[in-house]
Amino acid sequence: LLRVRGLQKSFGSNQVLQSIDLTVGRGHVLALIGPSGSGKTTILRCLNGLELANGGTIDVADELSVDFAAIPGKSQRAALRDRSAMVFQHYNLFPHKTVLENVLEGPVVVQRRPKAEVEAEALALLDRVGLSAKKDSYPFELSGGQQQRVGIVRALALRPQLLLFDEPTSSLDPELVGDVLRLIKELAVEGWSMVIVTHELEFAREVATEVAFVDGGRIVERGDPNQLLRHPKEERTRQFLHRLL
Ligand code: ATP
Repeated sequence: LLRVRGLQKSFGSNQVLQSIDLTVGRGHVLALIGPSGSGKTTILRCLNGLELANGGTIDVADELSVDFAAIPGKSQRAALRDRSAMVFQHYNLFPHKTVLENVLEGPVVVQRRPKAEVEAEALALLDRVGLSAKKDSYPFELSGGQQQRVGIVRALALRPQLLLFDEPTSSLDPELVGDVLRLIKELAVEGWSMVIVTHELEFAREVATEVAFVDGGRIVERGDPNQLLRHPKEERTRQFLHRLL
């Protein structure tokens, strides 16, 4: 579904992504782990066009191929953004819009889909995550766990081919983490294709098809979750995991 080759990104003279290669099969879940500042968030932001990479290619299915050696045009960037939807660490809901308005915004305003159809779908999704009673509430009236479930519903309502999660539980109180992880696991079982940046190693082991360890803007090692998390091949991966355990 997704193939990334030689992806590079610099901020000024700081080259944050060296040369990232990764693939995500249809219905597969790739978990990215690694130290703070290693470039994980930047990978996600490049994947959905929030950041413009400086080099490399991103192919989505057989229908979109973006080469960053030349600066891609607006329509290619828009196409890239349209293929994926991001769930953010700090939820990033619109504070002055209600829960339902937050979910409708992308599909209705950006994708220009019929409002009645999107609204029916949005209400079904909110019901699924136990939040239909909160549809007219504002984000500040919700707990962090509820806000993040709205963040996930908002992403699903865009009907993306790929879901991108950026540390979806690291702003949550510990007792709220479980609900959000359970929801993400359900989505994985349903066959959504995802890339998840996470510090929750046990979750990564359970949910991921493949785990990649990112350090210094490179993928140091990638492989089967059990193998990589329990018997890493690279010394740097071993040191990182050792510090977390
Ligand atoms: P964390 O786990 O702390 O979120 P990360 O692995 O996701 O870290 P990134 O957020 O991708 O790391 O950041 C990688 C590097 O890129 C950092 O050194 C950061 O300072 C730098 N960086 C990220 N975004 C920008 C930006 N917009 N402008 C300048 N530098 C940036």
